[in-house]
Amino acid sequence: MFAYSKSLPLYREVDVLVVGAGPAGIGAAICAARNGAKTLVIESAGCVGGAATNGLVGPFMTVYDARSEKQIIKGIFEEIVDRMIQIGGAIHPSEVRSKTSRAGYYLIGHDHVGPFDHEAFKLVATDMILEAGAELLLHTQFVDVIKEENKIVGVVIANKSGMSVIRAKIIIDCSGDADVAARSGVNYELGNIHDGNMQPATLFFRVCNVDTERLNAHIKEHENEIRPFYGPFSWLIREKQEEWGDVPRAEVCLFESPEPGEFRLNVTRILDIDGTNAEDLTKAELLGMKQAHKVFSFLKKHAVGFENAKFMGTAASIGIRETRHIEGLYRLTKDDVINCRVPGNSIAVMATNMDTHNKSDPGGTYYTLENGPYFGVPYTCLVPKGIDNLLVAGRAISADAVAGSAIRMIPCCIVFGQAAGTAAAMAVKEGKLPAAVDENKLCTLLKEQGAYLGD
Ligand SMILES: Cc1cc2nc3c(=O)[nH]c(=O)nc-3n(C[C@H](O)[C@H](O)[C@H](O)COP(=O)(O)OP(=O)(O)OC[C@H]3O[C@@H](n4cnc5c(N)ncnc54)[C@H](O)[C@@H]3O)c2cc1C
Repeated sequence: MFAYSKSLPLYREVDVLVVGAGPAGIGAAICAARNGAKTLVIESAGCVGGAATNGLVGPFMTVYDARSEKQIIKGIFEEIVDRMIQIGGAIHPSEVRSKTSRAGYYLIGHDHVGPFDHEAFKLVATDMILEAGAELLLHTQFVDVIKEENKIVGVVIANKSGMSVIRAKIIIDCSGDADVAARSGVNYELGNIHDGNMQPATLFFRVCNVDTERLNAHIKEHENEIRPFYGPFSWLIREKQEEWGDVPRAEVCLFESPEPGEFRLNVTRILDIDGTNAEDLTKAELLGMKQAHKVFSFLKKHAVGFENAKFMGTAASIGIRETRHIEGLYRLTKDDVINCRVPGNSIAVMATNMDTHNKSDPGGTYYTLENGPYFGVPYTCLVPKGIDNLLVAGRAISADAVAGSAIRMIPCCIVFGQAAGTAAAMAVKEGKLPAAVDENKLCTLLKEQGAYLGD
């Protein structure tokens, strides 16, 4: 062990600091700034978007209720999508039905997904952050916190300019992995505490020049072989198991982009990875790259429609589905989701199914909502226990591992960001701590900003 101490310069003093500019950070930064807070967002990558840009993840998972009748995720998500549509970078979820190429041909859980181009997301989200008046600092890593009792009084950052400190009245941790919460001493569960696993990692890749018409016709012929929660080509993998080799996946999960013939593939699978460990992340990147090239060669050789397909590239970063789930004032459970509970202090309602990719089933285990059209996520899931001036938004909010697999989807994370940003601005304005924010007032404000919070 080495003891290290250094005096660091102050970089900025702001009302609200957002750490991480993925889907949650984008929602948080826009809404904190729009609601009057002096806001800075820092991001370790060279662009905003997180898994939705650098990870090439998509489409936006369903924003409709479980009966496919009504759009229930709106607000800032809808604004972003509308602007992406204006520049030809997205298709509105209302137009996309399950069993089609843009919904990955899935039968269940994929009605009304939103195909998008990741460059359009990057562009629109950046514009909206800056237009809202928030300041954006890229290539900047959150490193540590300076704490006085239960309060974060300084946030240590590192970038090309060196190390420095940001002071903020409220910090919103949107790092995906709850880095700020963990460094501050907030309790968390790492993955699924019941089986000790974190969901496998996936390196997305993109291909173009796919003959969608032939692919569609081929998949129609095999319709009966598509199990409710499996995507296509399980028949091909079974038939050519030896050539498919050691990629631990029993389906080819592929989604057509807004651009016809261009698909993003969610197929590679790297098991036993801890996304909070740099060596594991490195291993996942290297294995993911190998698997991506192998899967592409397999498809080009054997899959109908892929004969002239071209490899466009792998994602800039491995996709991490799950790491820390913080302990908040309330923990959302699998039971809450399955039973479609909507607590009075819900800051969002959603109907995304619980999609738990795991080691034991190469197709993953899927739980659907059973007793209603949607479930609600209380504000208290965003408020960590133990640190007074911190909120957490995104996939790391307080939820058990199974509930966490439903709320991790991009639109959900964007609206958690909207709620956290709005709550933080309210807290600053009223001189309160996040836990003391009037939840009824917050919900009213969110509704005024276009959010749907249930009937
Ligand atoms: C393989 C895979 C497939 C998925 N499929 C879908 C899908 O089809 N549809 C869907 O809607 N969702 C899907 N998801 C879920 C979704 O992409 C993520 O759960 C969602 O992006 C999480 O958003 P977030 O803002 O919490 O975190 P992230 O997207 O991870 O963003 C976190 C941001 O914080 C930055 N950051 C992290 N640590 C630091 C630090 N210490 N300092 C500074 N910056 C930091 C990161 O660079 C990143 O930009 C998938 C996820 C994966 C991994």
